Amino acid sequence: MRPSILNPLFAPVRSLSGIGPKLAPLFDRLLAPQGQEARLIDLLLHLPHCAIDRRLNTNLGEAVASETGTYEVRVLAHKPSPPGRARVPYRILTEDDTDELSLVFFSTQRARIEAMLPIGAIRFVSGKIDIFDNKKQMIHPDLVLHADAYAKLPPFEPVYGLTAGLYPRVLQKASQAALTKIPTLEEWSDPLLIMREKWPSFTAALKNLHSPKSKDELAPEASSRVRLAYDELFAGQLALLLMRERMKKEAGTSRTGDGQLVNAALGTLPFSFTEAQKAAVQDIKKDLAAPERMLRLLQGDVGSGKTIVAFLAMVMAAESRWQSALMAPTEILARQHYERLKPFADAIRLSIVLLTGREKGAARSQALTGLAEGTTTLAIGTHALFQESVEFKKLGLAVIDEQHRFGVHQRLALAHKGEAVDMLVMTATPIPRTLVLTYFGDMDVSLIREKPAGRKPIDTRALPLERIDEIVESLRRPLQEGRRIYWVCPLVDESEDLDLAAVEERAETLRKIYGDRVGLVHGKMKGADKDRAMSDFAFGKTKILVATTVIEVGVDVPEASIMIIEHAERFGLAQLHQLRGRVGRGAERSSCVLLYGPLGEIGRARIDTMRKTEDGFEIAEEDLKLRGEGDVLGTRQSGMPGFRLAVPTKHSALLSMARDDAKALLAKDPKLQSQRGEAVRTLLYLFERDEAIRLVGAG
Ligand code: ADP
Ligand code: MG
Repeated sequence: MRPSILNPLFAPVRSLSGIGPKLAPLFDRLLAPQGQEARLIDLLLHLPHCAIDRRLNTNLGEAVASETGTYEVRVLAHKPSPPGRARVPYRILTEDDTDELSLVFFSTQRARIEAMLPIGAIRFVSGKIDIFDNKKQMIHPDLVLHADAYAKLPPFEPVYGLTAGLYPRVLQKASQAALTKIPTLEEWSDPLLIMREKWPSFTAALKNLHSPKSKDELAPEASSRVRLAYDELFAGQLALLLMRERMKKEAGTSRTGDGQLVNAALGTLPFSFTEAQKAAVQDIKKDLAAPERMLRLLQGDVGSGKTIVAFLAMVMAAESRWQSALMAPTEILARQHYERLKPFADAIRLSIVLLTGREKGAARSQALTGLAEGTTTLAIGTHALFQESVEFKKLGLAVIDEQHRFGVHQRLALAHKGEAVDMLVMTATPIPRTLVLTYFGDMDVSLIREKPAGRKPIDTRALPLERIDEIVESLRRPLQEGRRIYWVCPLVDESEDLDLAAVEERAETLRKIYGDRVGLVHGKMKGADKDRAMSDFAFGKTKILVATTVIEVGVDVPEASIMIIEHAERFGLAQLHQLRGRVGRGAERSSCVLLYGPLGEIGRARIDTMRKTEDGFEIAEEDLKLRGEGDVLGTRQSGMPGFRLAVPTKHSALLSMARDDAKALLAKDPKLQSQRGEAVRTLLYLFERDEAIRLVGAG
């Protein structure tokens, strides 16, 4: 149970005064996973990415174009838009002792402007300076204040990542209110470390960051940022170590077979393995045979052929009479794995079953009986696999696909359904080697870097959205040739009706031209409808599949050879790469079209990277670099798991410190019972690594 002292931090943001039913959903959207409420801790850990200097500049004459400045000015004259020409802005001429400044308003709220800036009044105005006709102007000042209001203004204004409809000032106020709710917390870090690094306390660090006293204070290398990043990494490393300890304690067992089933399975495959696949299979074979537990990460780009390697691992386990379970993060994926693997399993007479939240009634109880009695050897499913009602006679191998979507406790739950269960984790997130540790802990790694032979490069093009009609038109030819096309629309949040409407509308427009060859799939659809949409497309009943990112991970339709991504600038690099990986799997030459809206610097860099390379690892490195530059939105969209504060490229030195620290602490205090241990438990709760606490027991 979470210590009650932390309760205020886990209260919903809507419990703050001033955050009512209208604002709360905006905070939820910005800060919480889909379907959940944002809490004060989420708000506090949502750090500003920069600050605007609002200190007074005394000299208009020295103002520099395109810089933000704050000036004390006297209002000289009003120049309203001429009658009937509302598009000409309302100008207000002001001055200080050194120069003049026009304030420019495109707003029609004339009365408000006049009341705010009466002639002769002294005002503090803050905003970006422009030069127009050799004269200084400020278009829509950020602030127009009386002297006493300005006196109360903090010198630096924190700038946060936002979401549509949420105004900076609302978020700033909420963050300030949240700061006042932080309880008194015991220091969990080593006092010597704190002294050496001159770090502020956790609470002081949050206060420094939300009320910065300089711009530098927000830099990734500034001490408050580093302190918090360290806390996060330390909590993560502790959780991983505790889990690793637990795994090690439960002895493994040796699983070897005579090789017959494996050979039979290999004989039924329509292709031969790549060298990298063979090496991975060998690694796994050795691990299974060894008396220790396997804890192996199978890392390979989309389409590199991990699934079939995992299948062979399951066949090896079956040879020594053990059952296997493969857990996928979504129902679509579980179903697809099942459908792809079933023919191979059938061919060598291994019984295989699918178990997701949707299998109900007789089908479900039959599946459960098969697993409990051991007549079923292979189970494919979603997290439904580790529900209590699911029992295995003799589970020996757990394969987890795309594991960062599962928590540590889910992995453990599955592992505990058998004896000394060997673990194989598959990920298509091409995490640079240096970071594998951070995300996966102490695992052995098999890397499949090579793609199956015969894959052709994907022709990637980027076009502005204005040319969308051309693209729609250009699909005629490939459709005549029988090719299949994905059309992906961005969906920031599956629960968002606005975005859903856009996807549905896209499907409608395409249907006007291409009729019932157009299918639609999105996350809000019912399971059965989703399946139907996917299988219609897989079997060629539909030829264009309009989709949200539900197709992002793992979906495999080799006949699909064109990928169109609308508003490509809204996707993270990793996501774009995953999406593009859906094509280029068949014999045909594939192409990918990135349709982009207005591009910021980072959006442009992402699209350039996509055009430059198809190597997932290179893309991952680039992604890290770009996100390291403080693309706050990108972090949540990019598909990189787990961290809110630590920036992998900037804080990698901290990671090894955190690791050593965690190791040393657990060596001295394995059950976290010392005074520091107690405080560290609080830290684990704060960063929601509480599943680790179950491993050490109550304090
Ligand atoms: P991943 O799981 O790594 O994304 P998959 O296992 O889904 O990749 O493989 C992608 C496609 O390539 C599948 O259709 C699979 O049957 C095929 N495939 C896998 N290995 C090979 C190989 N060695 N040669 C040819 N095709 C392969
Ligand atoms: Mg896959």
